[in-house]
Amino acid sequence: MSGFVRRVRSRLEKACHYLPIVVNTVLVMSITGEVSYLVVVEAPREAEQKESEWSGVWKALHLLLQYFMLGNITWNAMLFLRTSPSIRGVFLDGDNVGQGWRYCYTCETHTPPRCSHCFDCNVCVLRRDHHCVFFGQCVGFRNYRYFLSCLFFMWAGLLYAVVMNAEVFIVILKEGVTLHSVMLLMVPWIMLVSGQVTAGAFAFAFIADTCVVGFLLVAAFLFFHVGLMLRGQTTREWYSNRRPYSLGVLANIRECLGQRWYLCWLCPLIASPLPGDGIHFQVTGSLEPIDSSR
Ligand SMILES: [Zn+2]
Ligand SMILES: [Zn+2]
Repeated sequence: MSGFVRRVRSRLEKACHYLPIVVNTVLVMSITGEVSYLVVVEAPREAEQKESEWSGVWKALHLLLQYFMLGNITWNAMLFLRTSPSIRGVFLDGDNVGQGWRYCYTCETHTPPRCSHCFDCNVCVLRRDHHCVFFGQCVGFRNYRYFLSCLFFMWAGLLYAVVMNAEVFIVILKEGVTLHSVMLLMVPWIMLVSGQVTAGAFAFAFIADTCVVGFLLVAAFLFFHVGLMLRGQTTREWYSNRRPYSLGVLANIRECLGQRWYLCWLCPLIASPLPGDGIHFQVTGSLEPIDSSR
């Protein structure tokens, strides 16, 4: 019996691990499909706007832009997941341990500065930033570039989707700000379950809502991480109010995005070697927390 429970538990844990990735993929694909539909079929929606009807070339350009962003999101996400930021397979010269090195009792090894143990990944991660619950993997030294690029294209894509979906809001609110239209925008699920709206109206309202909420969330994440990159800080160092490894704005960007930082965010295939090794870092400030009360 206990074996059965253990098996069910391990399967549930596995399912929970992949659930955020599956939900995110379904959302990204649904939003892209809906926006493509708006561009191809519904632009423009009103008959009296026919004179401003989008040309084939204009529609093709829109679709190209959408799939460029989608390609960047999925490719960066894939490379993020495939690039392990952990210490596995990395030669850590334990004889040269110095300032900032620690001993990890779980991994049973000395670990370099900025490296810390992740209890979800069950391994120490080089220049660990945080464990990303949406991807189920840590953000660290080697995969930070893909994380930031993915976040940037998600932000750009959602901004585009919000603009395109503005028409959905306009169409719904054109009937007047009634209880029905407000409920459809605020709680589309309840309106669908109670049979107040068609599945099509629900789908448009739900995706339009998801775009707005998703855009606000991703924008907050993106700007927070761009700020950290410019300051040469990890989320952990930000929490503990320390900034001992900042090398100046340009060098900090290079530390995260690599030598071709000005180009590499455009496409994950552009090689951009990182200047450091994730083990040795130049200390430029105090390793102790900054006392902000002084
Ligand atoms: Zn460890
Ligand atoms: Zn982790």
